[in-house]
Amino acid sequence: MKSIDSIAAELVGYDAQALSVDTGSAFLARLVEPVTQQEEVGIFQALGRVLAVDVISPISVPPHDNSAMDGFAFDGAQLTAQAPLTLKVVGTALAGKIWTGQVQRGECVKIMTGAVMPQGLDTVVPQELVKQGADTAFITLAPATVQPGDNRRQLGEDLLQGQPALQKGELLTPAALGLMASLGIETLQVWRRLRVAYFSTGDEILSLGEAPREGAVYDSNRYTVFGLLTRLGCKVIDMGVVRDEPALLEAAFTHAASVSDAIITSGGVSVGEADYTKAMMKKLGDVAFWKIAMRPGRPMAVGRIFRDKSASSPYETSANSYQNDTNYALSRASEAAILFGLPGNPVAVMVTFLAFVRPALLRMMGSTASAPPLLKARSSEAIRKKPGRTEYQRGVVSIDADGMLRVKTTGNQGSGVLSSMVRANGLIVLPHSQGDVSLGDEVSVMLFEGVI
Ligand code: AMP
Ligand code: MG
Repeated sequence: MKSIDSIAAELVGYDAQALSVDTGSAFLARLVEPVTQQEEVGIFQALGRVLAVDVISPISVPPHDNSAMDGFAFDGAQLTAQAPLTLKVVGTALAGKIWTGQVQRGECVKIMTGAVMPQGLDTVVPQELVKQGADTAFITLAPATVQPGDNRRQLGEDLLQGQPALQKGELLTPAALGLMASLGIETLQVWRRLRVAYFSTGDEILSLGEAPREGAVYDSNRYTVFGLLTRLGCKVIDMGVVRDEPALLEAAFTHAASVSDAIITSGGVSVGEADYTKAMMKKLGDVAFWKIAMRPGRPMAVGRIFRDKSASSPYETSANSYQNDTNYALSRASEAAILFGLPGNPVAVMVTFLAFVRPALLRMMGSTASAPPLLKARSSEAIRKKPGRTEYQRGVVSIDADGMLRVKTTGNQGSGVLSSMVRANGLIVLPHSQGDVSLGDEVSVMLFEGVI
C-alpha cells in the first residue's frame, strides 16, 4: 500500500495546491485497486455487475446452418446466370424439427426461418421471390434472384465453440445477458459489489423531516450521491448528516471505514472551513487536500481512512436495508477504505463525482471499460473560459436542422444551482488550456445518458 506522498512523488507536475484534472485522475488510478473477491450470481442478478473471468463459448451459436427466411432451400450449384430454375417441392422443414429426407437435383424443400438446412442444401430463395403455378408442387426462380449461399445463417456465425464470448472486466449489459443465455449459461462469475459509505457534513445541513431553521439548507447531496452510486451498481451505506463535532465525526469515519471499500463525504474540505472534518480525516487516515484547477469543484480530499477493527460502532447496522448483505466480506488485504472528500456545493459534488469518483470506483469494481467517448457539438453561444483550469458547464445538447449536434449552456453556472443539473443533459467539458469559446465553435460534451 503506497502512501499518499509516495504516489504524489511518482507524478510529474503534481501540486496539491494547483492540481490539474489529469494529474488528479492519474493519482486516483494509482491509489485505488480492484476488489479481489468474486461470487457466482444468476443471470438475472448479473445486470450491471463486472465479469470476473473470461467466458468461453461452450457451444456454437447458431448450432446448425439454418434458414434466415421463409422460403425454399436448394443446392445453389444449380443456379445459372441466364436461365430460370424450376424446382420440385419435396417436403417442408419447420423450425425446431430436423427434416431428414433426401433431396435430388431439381428438387427443393419448403423451409421456415430458423429451420435447420437439410443435408446438402446451401441456398434459400425467399417465398415472395418465386413463382408458383396452379401446381404448387413446383416453384420457379427468375435468373439472378439469389446467389449460391444466400439467406443461410452459418453454424457459429454469432459465436464459435471455444472462442471468447465475453471478457473479464466487462460490465454486464442487457445484450451481454442475452448473449450468455444464448450459450446456455445460467450463472456468471462476477466481482463482488463495492460497498460505499456516504455522509454529509456541515452544521447548516438539515435532514429531511427536520424543521427548517434560519441559515440551514436541506441535505441534497445525500440523494444525488445515493443515485449516482446506485446507478453504478454499488451498495450504498447511507449515514445521513454527521454534525460538526469531533466525537461524532470520528465515530462516523471509524464506522464507515470498518464497513466499506470507499467513503464519500460532502462538505467541509474547502480552505478556511471552520469545522473539524479535515482535521478528523488527517487524524484517522492518510489524506491529501487538493485545490483542483477545475470549475465547479475546487477543493477535494482524497486518500485513505484506516480501518480500526476493534472499534465498536454506535451505528445501527440492521436498520438500513443496504446493510443487510449476507454474502459480503471486506477485503482484509487492504487495511483502509478509500476516501473521497467532496466539496459541499451540490453541483460540485456531482461534477467531482463524474470526473474523479466514478472512474476510480469503476476501477475498484474490476471494470476495464474505458471512459465513454466525449461527443463534439457546436456551441450555440459564446462562452467565457479562462485557460489554466478545466471547466464543466451544464449544457443542453440538441440536433440542428443539418443533423449536427449543438449545445447551449443552462445559463447560471453557480455551483449551488442544482436545478440546472436537472435541465442539462450533459456537461460541456472545456479543457485545461482552452480559452474563450466563440459562437459556433466545436466543444466536447459528456452526455449524462449512461453515466448518471
Ligand atoms: P462547504 O464545501 O462545506 O463549504 O459547502 C459549500 C456549500 O455547499 C455551502 O453553501 C453549503 O451549505 C452547501 N452544502 C454543503 N453540504 C450540502 C449538502 N449536503 N446539501 C446541500 N448543500 C450543501
Ligand atoms: Mg462547510
